[in-house]
Amino acid sequence: MEKTKTQNKELTSEEQKAEINFKTDWQYAASPESTDHIQLKKKYDLFINGKFVAPAKPKYFDSINPSTEEKIAEVAEADEADVNKAVKAARDAYKGKWSKISASERAKYMFRIARIIQEKARELAVIETMDGGKPIRESRDIDIPLAAAHFFYYAGWADKLNYAVPGKTPKPLGVAGQIIPWNFPLLMAAWKIAPALATGNTVVLKPAETTSLTALKLAEIIQEADLPPGVVNIVTGAGKTGSLIVNHPGVDKIAFTGSTDIGKLIQKSLAGTHKKYTLELGGKAANIIFEDASIDQAVEGIVNGIFFNQGHVCCAGSRLFVQESVFEIVMRKLKDRIATLVVGNPLDKNTDIGAINSKAQLDKISEYHSIGLKEGAECYQPACEVPSKGYWFRPTVFWNVSQASRIVQEEIFGPVLTVQTFRTIQEVVEKANNTPYGLSGGIWTDKGSKIFKVSGELKAGVVWANTFNKFDPTSPFGGYKESGIGREGGLHGLMPYLQY
Ligand code: ADP
Repeated sequence: MEKTKTQNKELTSEEQKAEINFKTDWQYAASPESTDHIQLKKKYDLFINGKFVAPAKPKYFDSINPSTEEKIAEVAEADEADVNKAVKAARDAYKGKWSKISASERAKYMFRIARIIQEKARELAVIETMDGGKPIRESRDIDIPLAAAHFFYYAGWADKLNYAVPGKTPKPLGVAGQIIPWNFPLLMAAWKIAPALATGNTVVLKPAETTSLTALKLAEIIQEADLPPGVVNIVTGAGKTGSLIVNHPGVDKIAFTGSTDIGKLIQKSLAGTHKKYTLELGGKAANIIFEDASIDQAVEGIVNGIFFNQGHVCCAGSRLFVQESVFEIVMRKLKDRIATLVVGNPLDKNTDIGAINSKAQLDKISEYHSIGLKEGAECYQPACEVPSKGYWFRPTVFWNVSQASRIVQEEIFGPVLTVQTFRTIQEVVEKANNTPYGLSGGIWTDKGSKIFKVSGELKAGVVWANTFNKFDPTSPFGGYKESGIGREGGLHGLMPYLQY
């Protein structure tokens, strides 16, 4: 039979037709979340000292909906004068009201912020999805509830810091500069701001340039919660604004989540300064299926680990290792499941894979796809249709890849999975650890003893067993090697904001 000309090397045209029919037969009726209730301004200024203020130079950039390419709002670009103003506001607030009030009073503000996030959860979820492209199911069920949970959790620590560091008297550092990426915009803001406030620090935060809107909505929530002016300042802009924060002498601590390349740059510029820092960087997680695993459960976990949220997760399970004896069955079930994934309107509650966050990211993923094909790997993509406007990439699986292959070694940050086989535990541990990264990993097996052995040997900050991508504010998160330095979340997440 004649093969199709698509990137899909595997399916014949007959098979592709059958697959489309299968999908059409099973299509859900559209179920988009309404956008009527959301309140967005056309233009957002900087949030400094408790107020929205225009940037010193009247420069604004567009925030685009990546699923429609339509402009949602204009966002201010902070320059040096603006960053100076934000750091000064944070310093004054630190020396003034924030250090004078009791720890339990600090907690009250944080509880208030958490409750308002919960009240506005639906609006925040819709804005997150419009601005970033992730499926509403993800922003509604994961991002926003976890953002509120982080404020609740860290509010509980505010008046118990002496128990966090027994026998010492922990003190705040001062002003924290925080820079976050575009994959979990509000959650990353909560992840950074909540421990900083609980420990008595003040904050200058910069969201990513493609996803500033929920951070700016958080600024409105902070106003509503009556947080003293200057305790949290939110300045928007791109890399230049970020580096102004990193290099500002008035900042005492940098918390950065983003790419390994920028993390390395930041680390270099912080060397020799008084600033403490935590870096949460890239990943290339190994997800390992042993022959004794529950295969259906494992396949669902693999799909969840790399395809939901478009693979825009630093801990995404982007490298699958399958024990040789179950390779055929895993591949068959994986392809069957991928063929049913719904790619499209992120606001639709049935969507599994939304839009790629930006044109630049789509280009990067497409380039890696070509590299994989050029390297001679076998490739499967379902024949699903994608909308004509917006940035989309179909879920993609590569196999017959070598350990040295670029698609196996480098972080793609898209819905692209590589599959390799193994025979023994020693072999899979060596292959899994053979990467510059070490953020997360996953193990699928029926045997508890294998879980303990393999998780102990994987060089990864987080290892999930018979599940994947599960988060909780009480659990520390962070990497080995080029995946970063320091931990965020849980008790560990308090330490980088304290001197003791
Ligand atoms: P990604 O590849 O995920 O976009 P980046 O590391 O480029 O990751 O971006 C993560 C965050 O770091 C964003 O908020 C971005 O604006 C910011 N950023 C980019 N370049 C720099 C820099 N040189 N210094 C500080 N922050 C930066």
